[in-house]
This record gives sequence, structure tokens and C-alpha cells, in this order.
Amino acid sequence: MSVVREKTAVRQVLFAKPMIGAEEQAAVAEVLRGDTLVHGPKAEEFEQAFAAFTGAPLAVSVSSCTAAMHLVYMYLGLGPRDEVIVPAQTHVATAHAVEITGAKPVFADADPFTGNMDLRSLPGLVTDRTRAIAVVHFLGLPVDMKAIVSFARQHNLFVVEDCALALGSYVRGVHAGLLGDAGCFSFYPAKHITSAEGGMLITRHRGLAEKVRRLRAFGVDRTPGERSLPGEYDVPALGINYRLNEVQAAIGVEQMKKLPLFLAARNRNASLLREGLAGTAAITLLPPGDDIFVTSNYSVGVLLGERLAARKTEIVEYLSARGVGTSVYYPRAVPHLTYYREKYGFSDADFAAAAAISRRGIALPVGPHLDEEDMRYIVSVVTNAVAEG
Ligand SMILES: *Cc1c(COP(=O)(O)O)cnc(C)c1O
Repeated sequence: MSVVREKTAVRQVLFAKPMIGAEEQAAVAEVLRGDTLVHGPKAEEFEQAFAAFTGAPLAVSVSSCTAAMHLVYMYLGLGPRDEVIVPAQTHVATAHAVEITGAKPVFADADPFTGNMDLRSLPGLVTDRTRAIAVVHFLGLPVDMKAIVSFARQHNLFVVEDCALALGSYVRGVHAGLLGDAGCFSFYPAKHITSAEGGMLITRHRGLAEKVRRLRAFGVDRTPGERSLPGEYDVPALGINYRLNEVQAAIGVEQMKKLPLFLAARNRNASLLREGLAGTAAITLLPPGDDIFVTSNYSVGVLLGERLAARKTEIVEYLSARGVGTSVYYPRAVPHLTYYREKYGFSDADFAAAAAISRRGIALPVGPHLDEEDMRYIVSVVTNAVAEG
């Protein structure tokens, strides 16, 4: 007779989970029952809802955040002689969007306390080839954009905000993405809202928005709706196909209606985690923001103390075995990824603060799929994980 080992049900606290409900399903079905799959009213409705929520004068839907950033650089006409300052501690997309134009990303190390770009490094990185600065609001904590923008204006640089984690982030009441020149958002499933894949550009610059509308559709000068006869168009510019389709946009429209509730849940969850973990001396939490620098609460970032950092894999496995999903933002500083290391010759000694955040960091879940009970559970499991040994 075989012994059946009873597996006790472990609570599953996923790091992220797309919040797709009956509303999204119905909206997608509705699009599929119709004849318009691209260039339709849903993409426009999504743009309008996004503009209304963020306060953006202009919003342009695109196929991803990476696409939005690439289109901004195409608008700027970046090429091999140009440079863009980008954070070392970010998603590789922030750097790739520059690299793909032939321009050179020049990496800025992180502020060790926030994970955001270290503003003190900027003067040493700017050259006569620098055209733009890209900033990332790390885990949703907004960068001090006043300082960035005043630096950028002195040097005649365009300011691109990678807002992939910053839907619901504000500085002095202004939504992220409107603090610089161009804000680029992601609707990848793990982000604040999803359209499966998707992105949005927001801006105050009419010229940028109009150009990006053309560039995202091959550089064609008029959309099908703007033509009086089929085929009546010209192509005055080199463009690409980075459109958001109607199925994606229909999901996005429904997600926008739920966004205030999603953000409230994230805010509650993050506060509970922060309260619960405040007394744990072996770890430091990345800062929560305040009334001026309002965070979107993408995650609560934990930095392990130096001794614990050596056991990080073990700690992540301990959490995982107890059903607590974690993530790492970001697993390696971008200049330490093979492509950038080999192309530009970076070594481990470069970008020490960004590397320390990768090495010591664990991102804890606070998404709207989780409730107060889940937060208490995470607190107790994390407390045990860092106490052992
Ligand atoms: C997720 C992420 C991206 C990529 O977004 P896509 O929509 O998948 O292109 C870019 N930047 C940051 C900071 C991200 O976290």
C-alpha cells in the first residue's frame, strides 16, 4: 500500500495577476462581433479615458511602452551620432528603445535609497551629443522631475518618462508622464492595468502627438477614416506598425473604469505591508512616497541587509514554497546584461548602486488581486524568512 502524503493547501499569493472580468470579456466579444478590428472607435475611447484620468491634453495609443518610447525617439530623429541618458536600474526596454535607433544609451547609476536615477550623476554624463534624458519612476515612486526638467532645459534636452510602473503616480498633483515632455505607459499583464499587450503616449506637445499618430501607422498621412476615397494617401515619412488593435483597446477601456479601485487596493495593501514589516531590522523598505511625491504602489520593494543578501535565493525559495510570489526589479542593472556589457565594455564594478538594488532587492506583491488577509500572510512569511539563520 502506498502512502499518500497529504499536501496541506498552501495559500497562493501571486506577484501579479491580470484582473480580467465579465466586463472585459463582453467588450472583447462585442468587438469580435463587429467588422472593425483596427483603426476603430475603441482605440479612440481608450485614448480619451486615459487622457481624462491623467489630465493629459493628448494621448496616443500604441502597441507597447517600448513602441511608445521608440516612436518618441523616431520623432526626435535620433541616429548614430546621438546619445540619451538612461537609468542603469530599469527594464531593458528603456535602453533598447534608444539603442534600436542607432543612438547610444548613456547609463546613470541609481540613487541607492529610492532606486530612481541619481540626479547627481547627470552633469558628468551630458555631452554635446546628448539629445534626451529618459527617466523611470522606479516601482511607481516619482522621480524629482523639477530637478530633471530644469537640468534638461539648461542643456536643451527632451525629457522622456518611462511610466510603465507609474500609472497613478503624481508629483504635486501632476500625473507622471506630464512632468517631462513625453510619458510612455505599458499595459503588459503585470502592470497596473492591462490590454494583454499595449501602450500609451501622453504629452502636452501637439507636434509630438500628431507625428506619433502617423509614425505608428507606417508614416501614412491619413487614416482610413480621413480618406475620401480608398487608397487616397501619401507617405511623407518613414514609419512603422505600432498600432493598438480594437480587441486590446476594448480591454483597456474596461480596465480604465476599474483603475481607481485597483489603485485604492494597491494603496491599502502597500500600507499594510509597510506597517507589518516596519519593525524588521534585517530589511529596508524602499520609500513609500508622500503627499507631494505620490506613488502608484506598483510593489513594495525590500532591500535585504548585506548578510541576508548572500542568502537571497534561499529566501525567495522559502517564500515561494509558502505560496508568496515575488519578483525582482530588475534582475540585473541594464549595463550588466550581456548585450550592453559586450557592446560597451562595462564591468561589475560600474553602476554599483544599481547593481546593489538588483542583488539585494525583492519586490513584494500588492496588486488588487490580493486582500488584507494576504498582506498579513506575506508579513508573517517574510518575517520568518529573514529571521531564520
Ligand atoms: C514593463 C516595462 C517596460 C516594457 O513595457 P512593454 O509595454 O512590455 O513594452 C518598459 N519599462 C519599464 C520600466 C517596465 O517595467
